[in-house]
Amino acid sequence: MTDLAKFAADKGVKFFLFNFTDLFGVQRAKLVPAQAVGGMQNSGAGFAGFASWLDMTPAHPDMFVMPDANTVIQLPWKPEIAWVAGDPWMDGEPVAQAPRNVLQSLVTRAASASLVMKSGVEPEFHLINADGTEISDERDIQEKPCYDQSALLRRYDVISEICSTMIELGWGPYQNDHEDANGQFEINWDFGDCLETADRHAFFKFMVKAIAEKHGLRATFMPKPFSHLTGNGCHVHHSIWTPDGKTCVFDGDDEMGLSDTAYHFLGGLMTHGAAMCAITNPTVNSYKRINAPATLSGATWSPSSVTYGGNNRTHMVRIPDGGRLEFRLADGAANPYLLQAVLLAAGLDGIQRKLDPGKRLDIDMYTEGHKARGAKKLPLNMLDAIREFQKDKYLKTAMGDAFSAAYIKLRTREWNQFTKHLTQWERDQTLDC
Ligand SMILES: [Mg+2]
Repeated sequence: MTDLAKFAADKGVKFFLFNFTDLFGVQRAKLVPAQAVGGMQNSGAGFAGFASWLDMTPAHPDMFVMPDANTVIQLPWKPEIAWVAGDPWMDGEPVAQAPRNVLQSLVTRAASASLVMKSGVEPEFHLINADGTEISDERDIQEKPCYDQSALLRRYDVISEICSTMIELGWGPYQNDHEDANGQFEINWDFGDCLETADRHAFFKFMVKAIAEKHGLRATFMPKPFSHLTGNGCHVHHSIWTPDGKTCVFDGDDEMGLSDTAYHFLGGLMTHGAAMCAITNPTVNSYKRINAPATLSGATWSPSSVTYGGNNRTHMVRIPDGGRLEFRLADGAANPYLLQAVLLAAGLDGIQRKLDPGKRLDIDMYTEGHKARGAKKLPLNMLDAIREFQKDKYLKTAMGDAFSAAYIKLRTREWNQFTKHLTQWERDQTLDC
């Protein structure tokens, strides 16, 4: 375990961000001065849980965020500060509803079945102007802007600084590109154990926003920031390994290069796909990305049904290669910890009950979706997704009863707040009714 006081002395760190991520994916922190970090590493930093998106009241006792010191990162763009992911505790026990604790419980459950999930995420983001109204590059107007070399290089200063930071951190980034929407980018880095990927995903969102801001821009992971453009997905490539992390249990010798275990895991994703949406597509805005009409570029690149295919990007799950699956449903608003947790929860059910994912569909879901008879449609809005999750007894228990109750309560409250807003569209449609 890294000694944070020593880390500060060795690296010249003056302050530590003791960080935790709440149910809605908001990253919260206390800024702890280096001279106090020795004691705080043992005691944790105190928070009032109610003041964040956790289901607590002002009467709850102090919640202490215990730093997982092995996750510490010195901020390359502000080296006097270090960030460390933490686990919320209360009354001497981990807070069961806290997302990082939820993921760790599932990692432990998988380990007891001698399984380890490794994953990599592809969080897409838009670089927009500081007031959030438009993309930041007014020359980025191509109908098909994906991989646009010139538009990529016009944002070279920001993208290369993020990528260089990731190289410095040892994450193994290997490509940067302009994505399918104007103003949209993606940076890919090496996969790893799912908890490490979740921590990096959380840090990535913080880092991308911070570095964009430094350049006078703003980065957003919002699922659908512009209605006519492709939204921000967060695809997850994942596979199951033996406990020593050396053998990929998904490797197999069928025509797709997958094992029976991989198909059972996939069976879990098919069984729980609609309910998973409440976690993987957590906001009102999420449902403007999935089930959406074609965008300016010609495709949304997001699924609308619970289906899987081979190397085919129109399905919820793609089999890109032997030995792994790509889950294409999640979006930029997904909580990094809950995203990994819900995938693992659904997949473990598939493995443990040997679920059958059904037949692979080798069709273009955007033009031939009607041929996919019996394929379950994804929820059309956030409330439907919450209801699907509420109906899924297995998933609620697997994610933890305390978590599930808290999550359903707070997200339902959010939905109810949304429905109170009278939109201009409603007025235009209805004033003369
Ligand atoms: Mg992408």
